[in-house]
Amino acid sequence: MLTTIPGFDRIGEENAFAVLARAQALAAEGKNIINLGIGQPDFPTPENIAEAAIKAIRDGHHGYTPATGILPLRQAVAADLDRRFGVDVDPEKVIIVPGGKVTMFAAILMFGEPGAEILYPDPGFPIYRSMIEFTGAKPVPIPIREENGFAFSAEETLALITDKTRLIILNSPANPCGGVTPKAEVDRLAAGLENHPNVAILSDEIYDQMLYDGEEHVTLLSYPALRDRVILLNGWSKTYAMTGWRLGYSVWPEALYDKVRKLAVNAWSCVNAPAQYAALEALTGPQDAVAEMMAAFDARRKLVVDLLNDIPGVSCIVPKGAFYAFPNIRETGWKAKKLASALLEGPGVATIGGPDFGTLGEGYIRLSYANSQDNIREALIRMKTFLEKTE
Ligand code: PLP
Repeated sequence: MLTTIPGFDRIGEENAFAVLARAQALAAEGKNIINLGIGQPDFPTPENIAEAAIKAIRDGHHGYTPATGILPLRQAVAADLDRRFGVDVDPEKVIIVPGGKVTMFAAILMFGEPGAEILYPDPGFPIYRSMIEFTGAKPVPIPIREENGFAFSAEETLALITDKTRLIILNSPANPCGGVTPKAEVDRLAAGLENHPNVAILSDEIYDQMLYDGEEHVTLLSYPALRDRVILLNGWSKTYAMTGWRLGYSVWPEALYDKVRKLAVNAWSCVNAPAQYAALEALTGPQDAVAEMMAAFDARRKLVVDLLNDIPGVSCIVPKGAFYAFPNIRETGWKAKKLASALLEGPGVATIGGPDFGTLGEGYIRLSYANSQDNIREALIRMKTFLEKTE
């Protein structure tokens, strides 16, 4: 019998990929499936970005790049953060990584060990907890509550910090609930964290441009007192419809940058070169496609919320960010994962059960509205009919 380190018995995964595989298998058998499960924009990568990658290949950019990424791209990331938030970022503290996930992998690996505690949002992106458990650290959930508009509470978060806390993971705008934490609350948290100088912060801001109703993003990089311990996670996957390109970036404090650079050298060498040129075009080229995509998401958001609230036993607050709705389904009498599975196997609507995002996800399902209005309408008719029939 082969034995492995215990971490590999604890590592989890993302059920969204299993749902996607099941949805594809059912579709291959001829079943009509509407996929509101997976969290990726349904738009193609904008043409100018795709062309930049093709040009990079033709121009001979086929070799290794520096492990941290090509300098013009790191400079473009710094300029973009300055333009959008007025924060001063040194390109020598930016690393280009193969996807947003890689930053959480690196940060959690750096701080997680038996005896350590790491705070993470629940419901939240499932890989946070999985990676924390992998390292042997204790996962400490930060409750994300519907009654709080699915924002995190500064008070509740600060109260969870102990002398064992090494890292706090924050995510706004958030997956899976679509919550956006208001600036006043982030200010309160930042002020409180000044009393905990040994706690690092991983701020997952991958949905920072996916905001509605005039909401403005607050980056954790904008708090000077925290700058020496904030790790910013961001990337191109969602904003530029580039999930399959595997592209992300992070900004690291001085004390950690060389460690993550070495991890890159050991694990992935560099991000594939043509993708980095595409990322450069994404940041420096026209941004119209982002605005068009967001206008479409906004219309779908309103549609999905209206239709959900029209289903007996279902209620859904209006999400302020990302492209997810997180309806409360308690009054239908269904357990969330059972309902998600029944909706897929029965009427052919793929969603994700809330518990796949943490224990506080029971009573909710996640719908990604990265799908056409026609499909959203049809999916919600199917869901309503199904729930009425099984009442
Ligand atoms: N962070 C959050 C909150 C996400 O929802 C996702 C993807 O769904 C990621 C990070 C990972 O992004 P990527 O596909 O770039 O690895």
